[in-house]
Formats: sequence, C-alpha cells, structure tokens
Amino acid sequence: MTALEHEKEYKEYRQLIDKLNDYAVAYYVHDAPKVPDAEYDRLYRDLEFLESKHADFRDDDSPTRKIGGAVLDSFKTVTHQVPLMSMADIFDNKELLDFDRRMSEIAGPNVEYCAEPKLDGLAVSIIYIDGKFSRAATRGDGKVGEDVTDNVKTIKGIPLILQGNHLPQYLDVRGEVIMPRDGFRRWNENALKNGGKPFANPRNAAAGSLRQLDSKITAKRPLSFFAYYIGESRGYDFPEDQYHCLLELKKLGLPVNANIRCVNGFAGLASFYNDILAIRPNLNYDIDGVVLKVNSLALQNTLGFTAKVPRWAIAYKFPPEEMMTRLLDVDFQVGRTGAITPVARLEPVYVGGATVSNATLHNEDEIKRLDLKIGDTVIVRRAGDVIPQISGVVLEKRDGTEKDIFFPAYCPECGSLIERVEGESIARCTGGLFCGAQLRESIIHFVSRDAMDLEGFGEKIVEALISQQKIYSVADIYTLDVDSLASTLIDNGNAERKPRLLGKTVAKKLFNAIEKSKTIAMDRFIYALGIREVGVTTARTLASHFKSFDFLQKASYEELLQIPDVGPVVAKHIVDFFLEKHNLEILERLLKNDEFLFSAGIELIPLPQVSELNVSLQPLLGNTYVLTGTLESMDRNSAKKILLDLGAKVSGSVSKKTTAVICGSEPGSKLTTAQTLGIRVILEDEFLELLKKYK
Ligand code: NAD
Repeated sequence: MTALEHEKEYKEYRQLIDKLNDYAVAYYVHDAPKVPDAEYDRLYRDLEFLESKHADFRDDDSPTRKIGGAVLDSFKTVTHQVPLMSMADIFDNKELLDFDRRMSEIAGPNVEYCAEPKLDGLAVSIIYIDGKFSRAATRGDGKVGEDVTDNVKTIKGIPLILQGNHLPQYLDVRGEVIMPRDGFRRWNENALKNGGKPFANPRNAAAGSLRQLDSKITAKRPLSFFAYYIGESRGYDFPEDQYHCLLELKKLGLPVNANIRCVNGFAGLASFYNDILAIRPNLNYDIDGVVLKVNSLALQNTLGFTAKVPRWAIAYKFPPEEMMTRLLDVDFQVGRTGAITPVARLEPVYVGGATVSNATLHNEDEIKRLDLKIGDTVIVRRAGDVIPQISGVVLEKRDGTEKDIFFPAYCPECGSLIERVEGESIARCTGGLFCGAQLRESIIHFVSRDAMDLEGFGEKIVEALISQQKIYSVADIYTLDVDSLASTLIDNGNAERKPRLLGKTVAKKLFNAIEKSKTIAMDRFIYALGIREVGVTTARTLASHFKSFDFLQKASYEELLQIPDVGPVVAKHIVDFFLEKHNLEILERLLKNDEFLFSAGIELIPLPQVSELNVSLQPLLGNTYVLTGTLESMDRNSAKKILLDLGAKVSGSVSKKTTAVICGSEPGSKLTTAQTLGIRVILEDEFLELLKKYK
C-alpha cells in the first residue's frame, strides 16, 4: 500500500471513530440513538476490519477499546469492584462455528454451554449485603457507573431482601433492566394521547426510565429485571456452573429468564438460536439475540477476559427489528368511518423478518411529532406482531432536498371537506357513504369473516361491483343474482391484461354465500354494521344483553351505559348510528320485515342472555377475563377466541368487574393491578384445566 493510500484509509478510520463515538454518546448517555443498532453494528465492523488490516491503527478513543459510554454528571458515581464487560458479537453460523472451535481448543470436544436470550435493555449491578439490597449501579464505562439505587428499588420483581435461611454475606448480581412490550406500547399510547414524547423503542424506554434523577418517575414506568450473572459473591456456596448459578439466584428470589438452557457443542448452540428466534415475536420483551456462555465457571476462569469482553461468551445477534430506509411518499387513505390515515411509502427494507414497504403514520400529529419530510431517511421498527412503525428520522442524513408533507384539506377520494374535531387527533372525510372509499371499506368490513362471512367476496370483487354500479350500499348485495354477478368484470391489476368476467361458477358460489348469510347470529350482524368502536367483543356483549335487535336499536344512551364494558364513547356511537336516517333505511332493507316486502329477509339468531345462562353452550357467560404475559401453550389471540367461544368476555384492563386475570410468563402491570384490587390470578396450568373442563 502506498503512503497516500494509507493516509486515505487512516482518514476513513478517524471518520468512523468520530461517527461511532458520536452515536455512542447519543445512545448510552442520552438514551436517544441517532441511528438503528444495525447501522451502528455495520460501521463498527468496518472499523474492526480497518484495525485488523493496519497494525498501527490503534487510537485510544476507538470504540473497540472502550465499554459503553460516559456516566452522566448529575448522578453519583460508583466504582465497580469487578468491572462490567461488553460482549463480542457474531452474526452468522460460520462465526458461531469459529467460536465453538476456539472454546473446544481449551475445553475439549462437545463443550457445555449455558445459552440465554440476549435481553435488550440496560445492564445493572445490584449489591446485596447479608441478603439486603444495598446499592445498584449502571454499567457506565465498565469501571465506573451511575448510582441508581433508589430507582432500581422501585422495580417490581427485584427483592429488597433475598429469600431463604442462609444468605450470601455479599452478592454482586448483574442483570438487565427492560421495559416489557405491553408496558412500552401502553406508555407510548398514553404519551401520545397526553401530548408527551413517546420512546423510540423498549431499550431506550428502559434506559431513559432508569436513569432518572427522581426515583418517583422511575417508579411509574413499567420496568422489569432478569438476573444473568454473578459478578462476585462471598459467604455462600454457589454451584460451579453458570446454569445452576442462575437457578440458585432464582431460589434466592431474583427473577431469572425462563428460556435459559444447557446445550452442547455447535449443534446445541445453533438449535437454541433457532428456537429462540422462532419464539421471539411471541415474547413480551425485546431480545436482540442470544448470549452463549461456556457453562463451567472453572473453564470461564481459564479463558478469562480481553480488555473489553469475556473470551468465554459471545452474543449471537438476531436479524434487526429496526432498519434505515427512505420515505418516498405519503398517501392518505380513507377508512370505513371516514378516518384519514397517512401511510408512509418506503423504499422496501427487510426488517423484523419481512420486507416492509408501507408503514402507518396514524395521524397528522404523528407526522408533526416525527418532523417528517418526504425524502427523509427514517428508522422503521417492526417487532413482534405489531404493524411496522416509523420510530424516528435520521436528521443528519438530510441534504435540503426533502419536502414538507401537507395534510389534505379535502378527501383524496371524494373531494368532501376533511374535518378535525377539536381535541381529537383523527381527521375525517365528511362525505359519508357518498365517499367511494368509505363505501368500499364498509362493504369489505360487512362481508368479512367475523361479520357476515361472505366467503369469496374479496376486495377486488367488492371494488368491481361498486365501480360497475351494481351495488351502492351493503343492502344492495342482497339484490345481486347469479347473472349480475357472473357478468362482473374483474380487473386483475395488470394494465397489459384485459379484465376478465367473474363467470358462472364463481358467481354461483358467491350467490350461495349471500343466501346462507340470511340467517345469522345477532352479534355477527351487529359487528358487520361497522358502528364505530364496536368490535367483535362489544358486538357479543350487546347481542347477549338485548333480547332482540329492535331493543338494541331503541336503547337510550343511559341504558347502554348500564351494560358492562360499554363506556360513554361506545354508547354515543351506537346512539348516533341509529339516529342516522341513511342507516335506518339500510337496516329496513336488510332485516326480515313483514311490512317491507323488498327487504333481503335477514333473520337474526339471538345469543343467550346472561340472565338465561345457557350453561352447556356458553359455560363462562357472565365472566370477564384479562390476559397478561406470554402463555406457552397458545398465543393471546387463540386464548381470547376460546374464552369468547365459551361465552366469557375478554377485557384489556383489570377492574373490579374482572373475574380473573390469566397470567403467563413475564406478566405486565395487569398482574400488579389484579393483586392490588384482590382479583383472582389464574396461572397457565389452571387455565388449561379450566378449558379442559368445558371441552
Ligand atoms: P452488547 O449489547 O452487544 O452486549 C453486552 C450486553 O448484553 C451486556 O452489557 C448486557 O447488558 C446485555 N445482555 C443481555 N442479555 C444478557 C445475558 N443473558 N447475559 C449477559 N449479558 C446480557 O454490547 P454493548 O457494549 O452493551 O453494546 C453494544 C451494542 O449497543 C451494539 O452492538 C449496538 O447494537 C448498540 N449500540 C447502538 C448505538 C446506536 O446508535 N444505535 C450506539 C452504541 C451502541
């Protein structure tokens, strides 16, 4: 390499150091990352590559020689007796094979490992003296951390006194403070509602919440903790391997993650990685990989540490849940109720296991809050089963060519005025069913599976029927016959291919589905009407409360408020719906009606009323359950459906009316609320027993 090339690479090296250090300050010190972790990791790898290529590239301020970030001046500092280290990262199985090979060279073949999820929060060290919580500190730069004793004391699940008769004289336990996903979601929803600033992701939420000067603020944040390592202990015989040490910590009353496992060799490590990756979306907390540790403490001692990381452990990172991409445009979609939702059109990016090219922006306030412009580089987050979100803008990527986003004043579909009610964040098209988009969405909702279940009526067919003026409302569906359906032209979305006729075979199937739907459970029909805020559960509640649809239609606001789970907002929407002349006309045309011969003749099957408990069909009628945490045997939606099918109600929040809280692993704050209110808590085994009884 010539001197000139060397100089050029050194300049590149310095730029990388400065950039990474700048990102690290934002991330560690201010809990406000400028770029996603994947971008930081990519640049870090470039830096490592340059350092491996040039023996003289060894600047002291390189992040490869430092742990974490500086401590905030506002905190008292704590010098760690035993430093808190960082962890070397790997990203693929080839690197995993290398790691296992390195370990076997010292430990012999088929090394035993303790494999653990890599929790995405921040590390703390907690000191217990004679079993009593004495002090807690952040990792800081590894040697000196911030004193967060009062804050950590507020975290539920961390014992202030350890359990057992014989307790260690001294214990320095390390673990991760995290914010569970449900708590994070709830916190952000509240912040948005009250004009506050939401957190970008649960990791920053945990770090920002813990590093508060006022512990009363920390106490209000939904934080949890898992212990994963013993820094030092005296006066206690801990087992001689990591896995059993963790079990011992659990016996002492410290929370330990349920997904730790003992595995052997490369095959064991690789299958642990795959298993945890598979359950990642269902966990109630973020993980960004797995941590793989040589199990024997004696071997850990032999392997020792570098200046920054243990040689006996590795972090095998998962594909990222946050990535950078570009905002190409913003479209404004009109929903069934006229709500205008801005949707971000993105340069496609692979994130959280899927290619994402759209993300909802919720409303105008969200665009303002993000200070978003078209052409911006944005951070897209896709974690668990949550729809993709834009969590931030990478401001330093702006070059002045970005364009402001203007929220439309008129509906992009029908040109009617868009109205924004004071104090509400949603803007709505005032066009009602005159608006093609609202009509389309309300028909798509009406025919959907949980509603009238008109099998075969996809979006394309609904759009074709509307555009060919065969239907103008949901009631018109019942005027269609086989011929009019068969002669509908379906656009296949390809400009070069001609639209095709629907044809007799499909038309017959659709017609039969329409006929079948003329006898339908009352709750499905109520849901199908698309009354604002009336989802499947509320529709069931209404159907089981009222003897007939007529009673629901005539119910007053006050009467509706008497029904459990119907609040003032829902009650108002129901009353408003039945006051609308247009809706009454549609109902007249849909329901069987002796006075109006041209009605579709739909007959409603009433649900059993609470007062007429049909114990054999719906044995849980009248009971309200709340789910919290992760169930191992099924996901939350399946649990909810089973409960609903048994006649129970499933609510999102605990109140005095709750029958019981069903509690999986890593429960959220609902468990605490249940305990405070004295509501019964059912663990998963008991829940499965309950279900077995009614099968
Ligand atoms: P790390 O996060 O890669 O690994 C070490 C940490 O893992 C420990 O300190 C501990 O907190 C955590 N951990 C979780 N579960 C654990 C378990 N079961 N056992 C042991 N430890 C466990 O290393 P780091 O030095 O803390 O941070 C580096 C990472 O931080 C980077 O890879 C990057 O992703 C992120 N970072 C991002 C930015 C940004 O701008 N986005 C800036 C700096 C760092």
